[in-house]
Amino acid sequence: MSSTEDVYCFGGNPLDRASERRNDRARVAGLLADPETRVLPVRDLKPFTRGKAAPALDWQPVAPWRDHIDTGATVIFLGLGEGHAHLAVDATGASVAPDIDTELIDVRALAPAIAAGEAAILAEARSLLDWHARHRFCAQCGSPTTLASAGWLRRCPDCRASHHPRTDPVVIMLAIRGERALLGRNRRRAGARFSCLAGYVEPGETLEEAVRREVREEAGIRCGRTRYVAAQPWPFPSTLMIGFLAEALTEEITVDSEEIAEARWFSRDEIREMVARAAAGADDPAQVSLPAPIAIAHHICRRWSSGLDDV
Ligand SMILES: [Zn+2]
Repeated sequence: MSSTEDVYCFGGNPLDRASERRNDRARVAGLLADPETRVLPVRDLKPFTRGKAAPALDWQPVAPWRDHIDTGATVIFLGLGEGHAHLAVDATGASVAPDIDTELIDVRALAPAIAAGEAAILAEARSLLDWHARHRFCAQCGSPTTLASAGWLRRCPDCRASHHPRTDPVVIMLAIRGERALLGRNRRRAGARFSCLAGYVEPGETLEEAVRREVREEAGIRCGRTRYVAAQPWPFPSTLMIGFLAEALTEEITVDSEEIAEARWFSRDEIREMVARAAAGADDPAQVSLPAPIAIAHHICRRWSSGLDDV
């Protein structure tokens, strides 16, 4: 990672994924037998954690989880770090009694409270465990599939298809018109929470094309130049948020009322104030607001309103 690259919540994973080891069954078995190896148990997509005031992921030795693993629990090799292997195990339905100190905390609530590197590892674990839980059958022939490559693949024993864990690209952008920027309020969210417009990249489309299409569809604004800002893994369940600024060529807003309740131009000063309130955790429902710093939308708005980026 270069020192000039901005990394936001769920980015900056410190593990060496050592992907060349995933297909070596003897090496993976060796990692499970290694007393130094640590597993992160995750139940119903919530990790075991320790420490109420300053929570941390509850990495455990393999031994207490060995029976659960041997009876077919999903185990994923996350990578190497601090001299040992890190695995995630799906503890859903495990008969292993959680340690009395262990707490299960939702990833969205936990991530801002733990070390940044741990949040990134957690994103990797959550996305993969969720993918395995929802892809038990072959999309090609319908047969049950089996886990392979230390958790980085599922194989169909009948038609021999390989299924890879997916990451869905989403573009998220701030359209800029001089000293003003376009924010939208989502229909699904109550209150006066505004954010960047965003949408899934479609097949046969570049990122830049997706940026222009989404702004036109959601707000009726045509865009020209685009500029990449930063990306963020978003493990709910498995999205890559790809942030852009876009040069707006038109001003008149026509919202797509199915998705967007309202879209408005905000001045640079207004957005800077909204960023400051969101960073301070001040969520006054009477005032327009922006997402908290866990979301890349916050940083796209922060960077533009403070003059760090321009389109
Ligand atoms: Zn199949």
